[in-house]
Amino acid sequence: METSHRSSLDFTAIDFETANPARGSACAVGVAKVRDGAVIDSASWLIKPPQGLDDFHRMNVGIHGITPEQVADAPGWDRVFAEVMGFVGGDDLLAHNAPFDRSVLHQTCSAFDLDWPEVTWYDTLPIARRLLTLGSYSLPFVAAALELEELTHHEAHADAVQAARIAVALGDRAGVGSLPELAILARCSGRAAGEGTRATGDFSSLTASDVLAGESIVFTGKLTLSTRDEAHALVEHFGAACQTSVTKKTTILVSGDLDPRTFRPGATMSRKLMKAMALAEGGQEIEIWTEDDLHERLAVGREALEAATRAQRAASRSSWLPAYVVEQGRVATGSADGYSEWLRAALRHPEGRAAADTQCVRCSGPFGDDVFWMFLERWVCSGECNEALKRAAKKAWADAGIERPAAPSYAETYGRR
Ligand SMILES: [Zn+2]
Repeated sequence: METSHRSSLDFTAIDFETANPARGSACAVGVAKVRDGAVIDSASWLIKPPQGLDDFHRMNVGIHGITPEQVADAPGWDRVFAEVMGFVGGDDLLAHNAPFDRSVLHQTCSAFDLDWPEVTWYDTLPIARRLLTLGSYSLPFVAAALELEELTHHEAHADAVQAARIAVALGDRAGVGSLPELAILARCSGRAAGEGTRATGDFSSLTASDVLAGESIVFTGKLTLSTRDEAHALVEHFGAACQTSVTKKTTILVSGDLDPRTFRPGATMSRKLMKAMALAEGGQEIEIWTEDDLHERLAVGREALEAATRAQRAASRSSWLPAYVVEQGRVATGSADGYSEWLRAALRHPEGRAAADTQCVRCSGPFGDDVFWMFLERWVCSGECNEALKRAAKKAWADAGIERPAAPSYAETYGRR
């Protein structure tokens, strides 16, 4: 490692604030551009959240102080997006707890049918966890530990600038000069970065945490939520290592078939379970968990786990498309605002809005209580499935020679700087 190391980090840091717990409710965004390890430019915008997601919750207002009155005359994300991407200009994006900001960017784009930008994301949170030892890894604590000047926390502009400085300071501390090198230092680096589409096993939409760090986990029996591969990827996202059979290193056996009501001495057990019991009796620190025990320990909520799993399954069926989408594409006509109206007409489910018992046309999953109205109209359960539906539709329309209105100015603005 060179002692005369000089940072040459180039990226844009980004930070969102939201009006309510829905990720599509962005009400402010800040960006900070870094060249050669120095913040050279920054900007921020207030955003009027999209219709249907514009309820300001007291807790959110308490965090960032932005009120409905303040954004009443602010532009919508469809307009701010073009300016933000113009500022980003093809840079890699970085945030502190990037899964949150990436999810806000995606879900707010989905509310306007804007395509998710294909950028690589970096996250200072897992890197800070790796390089520092703190009681809290939230932005102000990490900044203080790195002896950075204090800025107003939960103000999008200040938080973007601070995340940028944190990345540079962490790079200095680690003696590395690029984000990929820095990300390698974080154990889950491969999952911290990501593209618009979530591949199987990519749980980066879930808040990263280390709750399973140091654990070696084996699965046995049939799981209700996940396939075996998905379960492996899930616990790896939370810091565990996976094994296929029970060994002296195993610390947790998750048994899908285990019914806690009937699990007692003398109960019928799988071979893996018997081996784990024997090792435990022999003094090995090995615990036997049900699938629910595991989900409880992850503390992200069953709904979030289901959503992340559905997103992966939707991505893996990338070419599948309901037949009516091509037919409706042939007859759809744009109105004054062109693109969005045309898309709405072409993608709308012919049977009207999704009801409580309808299934998502992409992933066959159920609809939650709080699904954005446009997704109900299309019978898609989430932003992930909406994006997958749009991608498949665009390909099918192109293959069928169906013309559609041009997308908003994002494509022209992108890369302007
Ligand atoms: Zn779905």
